[in-house]
Amino acid sequence: MKIHEYQAKEFFARYQIPIPEERLCTSVEAVKDAFQQMQRPVAVKAQVLVGGRGKAGGIKLAKSLQEAEAAATRILGMTIKDLPVKKVLVSEAVEILSEAYIGIIADRNSKNLVMMVSSEGGVEIEEVAKATPEKICKLEVNPEVGLFDFQARRLAFHLFDDVKQATRAAGIMKKLYACYMESDASLAEINPFVVTGDGRMLALDAKIILDDNALYRHPEYETLRDLTEDEQKELDAKQKGLTYIKLDGQIGCMVNGAGLAMATMDVIKLYGGSPANFLDIGGSSNPQKVVDAMNILLSDRNVKVVMINIFGGITRCDDVAKGLLTALEQIDVKLPIVARLSGTNAQEGLELLQHTALHVVSSMREAAQKAIALIQ
Ligand code: GDP
Ligand code: MN
Repeated sequence: MKIHEYQAKEFFARYQIPIPEERLCTSVEAVKDAFQQMQRPVAVKAQVLVGGRGKAGGIKLAKSLQEAEAAATRILGMTIKDLPVKKVLVSEAVEILSEAYIGIIADRNSKNLVMMVSSEGGVEIEEVAKATPEKICKLEVNPEVGLFDFQARRLAFHLFDDVKQATRAAGIMKKLYACYMESDASLAEINPFVVTGDGRMLALDAKIILDDNALYRHPEYETLRDLTEDEQKELDAKQKGLTYIKLDGQIGCMVNGAGLAMATMDVIKLYGGSPANFLDIGGSSNPQKVVDAMNILLSDRNVKVVMINIFGGITRCDDVAKGLLTALEQIDVKLPIVARLSGTNAQEGLELLQHTALHVVSSMREAAQKAIALIQ
């Protein structure tokens, strides 16, 4: 789960990671108030859950009330990568002497945590990794033993020659590590980590991704959630016992089992089509699930045809067919539907569907080809 910069900074503050003075605002008026209270130049920063805001014009410096008002009006009215900006962070503007990157992630390749630093801060780290990988210093950290002082210092000396500065930076790295671990994050980043004209070290920007697999341990995180429309749909599906991931194609898939759902998408691709989603309705023939799944597929305007692919194992195909019929009585589906049933009681299932408008086929290949043909 991604959280906003202002929320990530609340995590940082709890761990005494230094952040600038700042206020969250949702209106131009509030930004003006904040400016007047802070009585100093500020940076007005869009709060959206995508990277590269700065480049997209989502960060503006303001030295006067007029400039603050203009920046707020401009930023609160914009969309960044399709996301409307509803909140801005009014942050004390600082004089930047240096910008570094400090981050920690769970790394699947090394099966360890990896802490990374780079003196090339301020830009997206992925770009640094591509263009000048030698400028990133990486260190594996075993979560069983944690981050040792000497490790943090080794990383810090990569950023600073001065012993005092390096020691301070190492202290902040240890706090970031503690924040990462105790928050059950899968990523925590300070970018840029700046040294200011008045000698402070600050996390000027903050990024935290909370590990979805650990959310059950933190019911309080639910209040931090800010979902896009697609993510909201995926979450609704989850609550109904379905696993749904939206994709960009035109063939809406309804499948029982995650493996079969993956195979279905592969077969669609193989014959030149493109799936509109991954959808696993699980091993049940419950008509309600079929109705829910159908409603999700129909809410996607890209979907031109529905492809139902069921393999009966413990689930019986005739049960699924009955579920389908009940579901189709409840909702009026105008799109063509291709259904493939195979496995336990497939024959009985296929007979039940014979005199319906469904295009009934008996193999996955046929189903994909039929669905693709029906789009044309
Ligand atoms: P991002 O574009 O989403 O990564 O936004 P950041 O918060 O990382 O800011 C991007 C860049 O804007 C920073 O690297 C700085 O160069 C600049 N910036 C942000 N805040 C300030 C500030 O208070 N003063 C100055 N001078 N520059 C700032
Ligand atoms: Mn940044």
